[in-house]
Amino acid sequence: MAVLNILKLGHPTLVKKAAPIEVIDDGVRRLAKDMIETMHGAPGLGLSAPQVDVSRRLITVDLSVGEKEGEAFAIVNPEIFEQEGKVIRDEGCLSVPEVFEKVARPQKVKVKGLDLDGRELIIEAADLMARVLCHEIDHLNGKLFIEWLSPLKRNLIKKKFKRQAEKKSRS
Ligand SMILES: [Zn+2]
Repeated sequence: MAVLNILKLGHPTLVKKAAPIEVIDDGVRRLAKDMIETMHGAPGLGLSAPQVDVSRRLITVDLSVGEKEGEAFAIVNPEIFEQEGKVIRDEGCLSVPEVFEKVARPQKVKVKGLDLDGRELIIEAADLMARVLCHEIDHLNGKLFIEWLSPLKRNLIKKKFKRQAEKKSRS
């Protein structure tokens, strides 16, 4: 297993629509394992493949952030097919570190996809789990959570990250 580098706001892979996974092979399973290790190390509640520079439809989630054995799971080609209600809560992202802003998400979602053995998964999620699933599935569509903020807030955050990236490349 390996801890992968997490891309930060400004990287082109983060705004690209990720391609579906056609075949779930050992490469996909290894990527999912590496993503779980990366997510636990970060630490974060969820991670999407585009965040580790793989533009494919794969997400990992663990609300216990590695505290509970067997809590981490992966979904291949996840899709929301039902949603209900609305909850506004602070949200953050491993690709936009140290930024937490209020985002409205459905209170409940139903998500379908495949597990790492290619079996169909149906997940009914509420509250925090629903939020994490929506956030990670947004990543697969090239959408960061700051896209839900006002243009003013979003541009301030983008500018801040651009300045940081420029500073880094100069030093
Ligand atoms: Zn994120």
